[in-house]
Amino acid sequence: MAGEVALVTGASRGIGKAIALRFAREEYAVAVNYRQDRAGAEEVVKEIRGFGGRALSIAANVADRAEVQGMMESVEKELGPLTVLVNNAGIVLRKSFLDTTDEEWEETFRTNVRAIFITSQEAARRMIPRGRGFIVNISSISGHVAVENRCAYCSSKGAVHMMTKAMALELAPHGIQVNAVAPGIMETEGIRSLMANPELRASYEKYMPKGRLGWTEECAEAVLFLASEKASYINGAILVVDGGLSSRQALPRL
Ligand code: NDP
Repeated sequence: MAGEVALVTGASRGIGKAIALRFAREEYAVAVNYRQDRAGAEEVVKEIRGFGGRALSIAANVADRAEVQGMMESVEKELGPLTVLVNNAGIVLRKSFLDTTDEEWEETFRTNVRAIFITSQEAARRMIPRGRGFIVNISSISGHVAVENRCAYCSSKGAVHMMTKAMALELAPHGIQVNAVAPGIMETEGIRSLMANPELRASYEKYMPKGRLGWTEECAEAVLFLASEKASYINGAILVVDGGLSSRQALPRL
């Protein structure tokens, strides 16, 4: 895919990092977006350049339109016309429905929903004249199955699912495909530290149909597929990458 350009939001660590590295391995020039974690983003760029790839780290709060416009301009100036946008940046609020404040609710929706609206709109406006583009949103299985103490997060990811479908309808006539990847529980630095207690981790692994958490590379593989011609008739889809976790009923067997 030499010559193609991919922008991955929130790629300084975790799932976004794995996606950036995977696209770079396919010879995409990759823009590694972050908001604060400059050292992490520069480490990803260094790794890509280390195997001969092209990459750029770029700071922007993806919930801020002016910052996103500036980012798009720099990415296209430095790397070339954007072909792929991966909307990965996201935050999790672990708080009960009753205790969630207005500000926390709004911050969750600003980052997880409004940012995808803004970033996709700005990217689509650039892709439309060229008649080609791919947008992949990273949602979550929490967008279709609820979990306690995640009301704002689950609601925001449900919104991402519907936004994916609605955008897919309107952008298809312009040659732009829009899909989402809904991960289960993946081995990110954040999840690893939450599961630092071996007993807790073992109890989660026991519950997983595949007996383990997901690897960020497994998510990246699904994103790469959806952003390729191999997925040419897949549009508005939510591809679940959870090892079967959300297919399981919580009830014990009779
Ligand atoms: P991390 O918390 O590890 O990383 C989040 C990334 O997003 C960081 O690079 C962070 O950069 C960036 N970011 C956050 N807010 C903004 C913003 N406003 N503008 C730009 N960048 C921002 O996330 P994960 O890898 O765990 O998750 C990535 C995505 O996958 C999220 O959308 C998440 O909801 C989803 N997901 C993750 C799962 C998991 O198991 N980890 C499961 C299901 C879904 P900085 O620190 O610089 O702000």
